[in-house]
Amino acid sequence: MLNQKNLAYLENLMTDQTLIAVTKYVGDKEINELVNAGIKDLGENRVKKFLDKYEKHQDKAINWHFIGHLQSKKVKKMINKITLLHSLDRMSLADEIEKRREKPLPCFLEVNIANDPNKYGLKPENALDFYNKIKEYDKIKVIGLMGMAKHTEDKEIIRENFNVLLKLREEFNREYNDNKVTKLSMGMSNDFEVAIEMGATHLRIGSFLFEEE
Ligand SMILES: *Cc1c(COP(=O)(O)O)cnc(C)c1O
Repeated sequence: MLNQKNLAYLENLMTDQTLIAVTKYVGDKEINELVNAGIKDLGENRVKKFLDKYEKHQDKAINWHFIGHLQSKKVKKMINKITLLHSLDRMSLADEIEKRREKPLPCFLEVNIANDPNKYGLKPENALDFYNKIKEYDKIKVIGLMGMAKHTEDKEIIRENFNVLLKLREEFNREYNDNKVTKLSMGMSNDFEVAIEMGATHLRIGSFLFEEE
């Protein structure tokens, strides 16, 4: 069930971030509780689970965020049902979205800020070049950068990781100066305090929001 105390703690700490409640570990009951608590932005990282939940909760005004790795072959069946994509990370995916999406989709470029070979995301040094190739696409509107810090208790490492995203945003703004790539999707249950401190605009929080019955 929803942990009301943790939600209140988080909302108290937030300044003007968008909270995306990640529902991948929970079911319909928790989705109802979130909506009743006024949380309208929900995130999922698997296409099948997203589609199940989307169907079941169509009666509610939910903005669905897709936050996980997205296979190109699955784009067609889900891309027109989401509000925002946090995980744009390669040309084949951008091309498929350009083909299948009906209206412009706000997207974050996912960047591998922890420099972890097992994680998805663009290498920081390739992000500008990637953006250059897709910035004229009609159906893709890049609004910012997304990253996941290493899962650690060491706040210095978390800060270093998030700082890669901040630095990269500066580079984007120096290169383009068009005020388009401005948002930062960073901060999960383990590190949202640091993320808020460092200027996150979108938080993606799952486990912290829920508790066992
Ligand atoms: C699961 C997930 C989250 C939320 O994780 P918690 O640690 O439970 O808060 C955030 N972002 C992505 C991409 C995820 O897959």
